[in-house]
Amino acid sequence: MRGARHRADVRIDVVSLFPALFPGPLTESIPGRALRRGIVELHSHDLREWGLGRHRSVDDYTYGGGPGMVLRPEPVAAALDALRGPDGFAILMDPGGELFTQARARDLAARPHLVIVCPRYEGVDDRIRRLVDLELSIGDYVLSGGELPALVVIDAVVRLLPGAIDAASTAEESFAAGLLEYPQYTRPPEFRGERVPEVLVGGDHAAVARWRHERAVERTRRSRPELLDRAHEAASPASEAGGGTRDGEPADRAVPPPLSSPARGRKRRSDDADRWDEGGATEP
Ligand code: SAH
Repeated sequence: MRGARHRADVRIDVVSLFPALFPGPLTESIPGRALRRGIVELHSHDLREWGLGRHRSVDDYTYGGGPGMVLRPEPVAAALDALRGPDGFAILMDPGGELFTQARARDLAARPHLVIVCPRYEGVDDRIRRLVDLELSIGDYVLSGGELPALVVIDAVVRLLPGAIDAASTAEESFAAGLLEYPQYTRPPEFRGERVPEVLVGGDHAAVARWRHERAVERTRRSRPELLDRAHEAASPASEAGGGTRDGEPADRAVPPPLSSPARGRKRRSDDADRWDEGGATEP
């Protein structure tokens, strides 16, 4: 257990006109636990701290005419200068940015310090783009501000940090190997006429691994065929089901126990793991 004075592994600073939106939903479950344990430190800052003049103004009309206000570059640049430090990786949330993926989440999870700028209104003066390391979009739609997108990015990053959850969970889930995750079942063994596939209750780990790989490929082909083009060769039955844990644990540790031992199986479930872990954790 990490002490309260331990320097966090990762620091995240967010800049927003609505800093109270953070940590918001990140106080619960996996990210909440990572925050309380000091695995990650999250600081939100009011962009108006760097606002101009007596009114701490941050926005203005758009040159050339058009609807809406645009964030001026000076306050955002000043915030970046103040927060970035020696190892800060600056991200601008923007619908025109790189589409956020699990691969990018892994890349960001390996960085010690992220600074995330969350614009509002029509966005920020274009000259800010050259001051950031990355522009990120969470999808092809327009939200009212960068805060929800930033929360999405932070959640995806934090759950990948060592100690946030069982490494085997993140090694196997959707997108980890360019595939969607295989179908999962828990008790009861029969629900509204549909039985849990026989192979999963048989206890034959190799057969389970093969079945899961086949179902993952099938599911991906059906709902996200474009992911298959990008899937790398590592997506073989062996590496799919058992390999790829982040800390080099034995491969079969990643294969869940058969359903016939629900007690062991239950401990692996993330929501139960939360409860189980929170019970033993001392709150700061
Ligand atoms: N006028 C802009 C949209 C501004 S929306 C345009 O047409 O591109 C206001 C802010 O919300 C953006 O500057 C961005 O920070 C955030 N935002 C909205 N949708 C987003 C998305 N899909 N991904 C990331 N950020 C988004």
